Formats: sequence, structure tokens, C-alpha cells
Amino acid sequence: MLNIVLFGPPGAGKGTQAEFLRESFSLIHVSTGELLRSQIAAQTELGVKAKSFIDRGEFVSDDVVIDIIRIKFSENRLAKGFIFDGFPRTVEQAKALDNLLAQNRTIISGMLSLDVEKQELINRLLERGKTSGRSDDRSISIIENRILVYNQKTAPLIDYYSVQNKYYPVNGMGAVDDIASRLKVIVDGF
Ligand code: AMP
Repeated sequence: MLNIVLFGPPGAGKGTQAEFLRESFSLIHVSTGELLRSQIAAQTELGVKAKSFIDRGEFVSDDVVIDIIRIKFSENRLAKGFIFDGFPRTVEQAKALDNLLAQNRTIISGMLSLDVEKQELINRLLERGKTSGRSDDRSISIIENRILVYNQKTAPLIDYYSVQNKYYPVNGMGAVDDIASRLKVIVDGF
């Protein structure tokens, strides 16, 4: 299997680039944010609980997202591989993902990390908020909180994957196609 973690702060372009990688390499794109938003739209019990966290720019609990990933993985056991977008976001989640993959005799091939300057992240998210319908993209204070939470809880994953020699930083600034080409070169090498 080819299993890729697409990493980066909110607004780094993970969703856009994950779609490109999905097409180029015939992978299953798993976005925990998307899966949570569909639970909210369907007004499930899980969705109702998740909404209050998402609206504040806080994380949903590790147990909830790990369960979502387990279900998605078991539905696609025969896939060529996965592109994980917005997951893992904590060291706890990364360990759970490694365990899940090990149980299925596979591993993470690499973690591609999109580097984007903070002001550019804020500009992109506010721009997206005009059309995305996402409540967490509309307020500067919620966006700032999401970036803060990323720095506190998610950025440590760079070390987690570095020590495994799986960390691949990528310049996430510039044209979408150029960024996609940078990612493709790395994935071709896996
Ligand atoms: P995203 O679409 O990846 O930006 O995610 C939107 C929101 O969903 C995040 O700000 C979190 O509140 C929640 N979320 C998505 N993925 C995770 C995750 N792996 N762990 C915890 N919360 C998550």
C-alpha cells in the first residue's frame, strides 16, 4: 500500500493537494474534517457533539477521530493506499494510525508537510470562508485559535515522523500546480 500523511496548518492547501494526489496515484482520500462535517450535516449524535468543538476551532477527541479512521480503513481494505488529510493531528492519533496500519501489515510511506507563511494561511482561510459555508473559516479569532492549536498539538508530529525518516517538507506557497508537482516528485520516490 501507498499511505501518505498530508500535513500542514489550517489553510496550507491539504484538501486541494490531497485531491490531486488521489487522482494521480489512485488513492483513497480520507479527510477527518470532511467526515466530521458530513456527520454534522446529517445531525447524528456524533455530529452534534463534534460541532461545538469545530465551531470554536478546537479538536474533536482523539477517540472519535480514531474510530472514524478505523471505519474508513475497514471499508477500503483492498485499496491501493490512502491519503490522510487532517489526520493525525496529535501524537496519540499518529500512534493509533501506526497500530492500525501494522495490524493490516502496512505502514506510512511518508509525511508530506506543506509549509505556508502565517499571514498567507489567514488570507486563504478568510477568502475560503466567503464561499465554503464553514463557520470556522469566518472569524479571525477562530482562525487564530486553529493555528495556535496546530502549533501546540500538531506541530510535534514533525518530530514523530522525522525520527522515522518519513518527514518531507514541501514549499506550499505559490501556484497550486507547482505545489502539486513538488509533491508528485516526492511520492514518485516512495
Ligand atoms: P479540517 O477540515 O481538517 O480543517 O478540520 C476541521 C475541524 O474538524 C478541525 O478544526 C477540528 O475541529 C476537527 N478535526 C478534523 N480532523 C481532526 C482530527 N484529526 N483531530 C481532531 N479534530 C479534528
